[in-house]
Amino acid sequence: MTLSLPPQPLQGSDADWAAIRGDFPLLQRQVHGKPLIYFDSANTGQKPASVIEATDAFYRHHNANVSRAVHTLGTEATDAYEASRRKLANFLNVRADDLVLCSGTTFALNLVAYSWALPQLKAGDVILVSRMEHHANIVPWQLVAQRTGASVRVAEILPDGSLDLPALYAAMTGEVKLLAIAHVSNVLGTVNPVREICREARKRGVITVVDGSQAAPHRPVDVTAIGCDFYAITGHKMCGPTGTGALWARREHLQAMPPFIGGGEMIKEVSFEGTVFNDAPHKFEAGTPNIAGFVGLGAAVDYLQGVGMAAIEQRETELLAHATEELSRIPGLRLFGTAPEKAAVLSFLIEGAHSHDLATLLDLEGVAVRSGQHCAHPLLQYFGVTATCRASLAFYNTHQEIEQFVVALDKARRLLA
Ligand code: PLP
Repeated sequence: MTLSLPPQPLQGSDADWAAIRGDFPLLQRQVHGKPLIYFDSANTGQKPASVIEATDAFYRHHNANVSRAVHTLGTEATDAYEASRRKLANFLNVRADDLVLCSGTTFALNLVAYSWALPQLKAGDVILVSRMEHHANIVPWQLVAQRTGASVRVAEILPDGSLDLPALYAAMTGEVKLLAIAHVSNVLGTVNPVREICREARKRGVITVVDGSQAAPHRPVDVTAIGCDFYAITGHKMCGPTGTGALWARREHLQAMPPFIGGGEMIKEVSFEGTVFNDAPHKFEAGTPNIAGFVGLGAAVDYLQGVGMAAIEQRETELLAHATEELSRIPGLRLFGTAPEKAAVLSFLIEGAHSHDLATLLDLEGVAVRSGQHCAHPLLQYFGVTATCRASLAFYNTHQEIEQFVVALDKARRLLA
């Protein structure tokens, strides 16, 4: 008889995580003759072999369209696609029927804007948006405001990059109908207390839209416990393929919302006299979806759950503490975002050095960081800068990489500053 032992909990050293890191083929490559140090996971995450293989296997063995054909391949494709919906629902602790699969957070937030907000809002209404939002959680609300006569109000942040909570609650006056807020900031790493915020919003009758793009890949997310109205995620940041994502919405919203995009799959019956729409979530999934992508995303969810989201959060917290400590030794370095609750995102500038120059010199050392405005112009305006360098870490990074990165950064600083 073989004993089934529980998996050993992962510890914090690089050696403990070496096997996990080894699951990511791309991390083996070299850039400019140096081992790649990939510190751009807030931009897009790397993919483990299991995700690449699942996508490949779909095209090799099961490729067909979903929900259309009764033949074997058609059934297999539909089953695989729907299995991914169930995996994602389990990952977020929501019902699969309340999860709309779509191309990513940008689409998900536009779906809320066009299908929920456009018919609901009117002149005089206010959409409250935090200062730290990604453009994907700003621009759709501006477009809705233009068309309805509603206005956009800004919920301000504090110098450490955390939300000014008393100001946020004070800003939720009677005219505020919707609050759009990031769970985790893509620039500062700030983790917003979305559960408390959604409770306060609910008390005041404000609908909450949470952008979970930077949270779902890095920490356990229980959408039901958060208590929001809408929660958006994107697959490519959570080890899944690009062009995949989801919007979770309360059932009553999904039922009341009109379709956003019309076409095949989202209908029950079509005639020239009138069309009967499918039930949610299918009513929001017109056309052929990114089936192979969602099969890959299902494999990504399996992978993340196999590693364990609590273990991932712990690992990244340790990497963040190490990186923050190391960066504090660099002369003239200014770190943006020092909130107590923070994910492993480090935005910084070095006095006298342009962020693009830093990123270019780092690339020559094999280090991939992002430089620029990170799709968050209003946030950078708050800090009075036009660009930053951003190192964003994931559980597959190592303490050793952090040390090499800091050496490379200091070398760049000495050349530029
Ligand atoms: N929201 C945040 C916080 C993000 O970081 C991003 C991507 O950078 C997005 C939205 C846009 O997501 P997607 O790439 O799925 O359109």
